[in-house]
Amino acid sequence: MITQMEEQVFDRIESEVQSYARNFPVLFNKAKGSYLYDEDGNAYLDFLAGAGTLNYGHNNPVLKEKLLAYLSEDYIVHGLDMHTVAKRNFLNMFEEVILKPRNMEYIMQFTGPTGTNAVEAALKIARNITGRTNIVSFTNGFHGVTLGALAVTGNSHHRDAAGIDLPGATVMPYDGYMGDGVSTVEYMEKQITDSSSGVDLPAAVIVETVQGEGGINAASFEWLQELQQFCRKYEILLIVDDIQAGCGRTGTFFSFDEAGIQPDIVTLSKSLSGYGLPFSVVLMKPELDQWKPGEHNGTFRGHNPAFVTATAALDHYWRDKTFSNEVKKKGDIIAQAFDAIADKHGSEWFTTTGRGMMRGLVCNSGKLADAITTEAFKQKLIIETSGADSHVVKTLCPLTISEEDLRKGLDIVAAAADKAVAEAKQKGNVA
Ligand SMILES: *Cc1c(COP(=O)(O)O)cnc(C)c1O
Repeated sequence: MITQMEEQVFDRIESEVQSYARNFPVLFNKAKGSYLYDEDGNAYLDFLAGAGTLNYGHNNPVLKEKLLAYLSEDYIVHGLDMHTVAKRNFLNMFEEVILKPRNMEYIMQFTGPTGTNAVEAALKIARNITGRTNIVSFTNGFHGVTLGALAVTGNSHHRDAAGIDLPGATVMPYDGYMGDGVSTVEYMEKQITDSSSGVDLPAAVIVETVQGEGGINAASFEWLQELQQFCRKYEILLIVDDIQAGCGRTGTFFSFDEAGIQPDIVTLSKSLSGYGLPFSVVLMKPELDQWKPGEHNGTFRGHNPAFVTATAALDHYWRDKTFSNEVKKKGDIIAQAFDAIADKHGSEWFTTTGRGMMRGLVCNSGKLADAITTEAFKQKLIIETSGADSHVVKTLCPLTISEEDLRKGLDIVAAAADKAVAEAKQKGNVA
């Protein structure tokens, strides 16, 4: 039994900076597959999955078995960046299962364990290689909250917390930001080539193919190709931040696998370990690997238990297209369910967005989205919002979720949407 006094420890001692805990005020204890369990054993269907860290579900049995065996035999847990068998196995597996079948040639850098560490390293590489300082980022982009990554992040809530200027970045409109039929790459090219535009030639462009925190905006493959052409033309490095959209979330291992582009630099994190163990890497074209030994450092660069679970995940899920096809199929189920909600209530209330299992129900206000996720939580579904006004209800459910649980969660969202719209109409908040 956890006493009231013990629970209040979160108010007493934990910082006000808490965020997810506020939206889901329950004391969680256990987790398995697509479910979280509170201290009393109540089950919550998890459509957030550690913000996309648990693509293979909580405590995935295949990964857990390897991890437990590794720990019980006293294999190395922390070895700085020294060579270990676990690291060798991971590199071999990544090369065999991910790089070779794609004809990709990348060098892998192990950075500090969080996504923002990988982004910082990627930006340093681009600046050091090109000798330029400016980085182009996009409206609604999110890349982490350390100062370098924050400078290329759009969200003012996060930016304002920096406490100092965030230099070295220029924001350009993402695909679709200026409405249909406007090529934002053309606009960018105009700015870059005009010596009086006030925009310096950038070292790199950093982009998410589907914007996770920024509202599940999905760039078209044509736009991504245009963007790559533009980068090549002006010798600007193309960085794809695949921290959230990668590792299968959009239906392929890399979110750009079917987009016809070959980024110069790729960042991966969130679901890379597959088990919720912190793990981040930067992939770079071989000619970009001009680091001097130890120049970019970090105590936790590549954590051995994360190598073990990441290796198991690649081995189990990515050797053929079975899993990928499953994810695409479930992505279609989500898209159909969200489209049905939008069709029922009309586009003045909802539109839909996203790709693969990274989908968004775009609400006409943050209030409406909040009403939906709050009601969903009452029905024991954990689902979050994203976007500038937190107005997009987003699915980040485990990719391994059963169709039955997926439909169960989507039905809860649909019912919550009905209720939220009815209440908004009653209050006179007609769209
Ligand atoms: C989450 C995220 C990051 C930052 O990762 P952290 O582990 O929170 O530092 C960077 N880029 C994208 C696209 C993300 O979704």
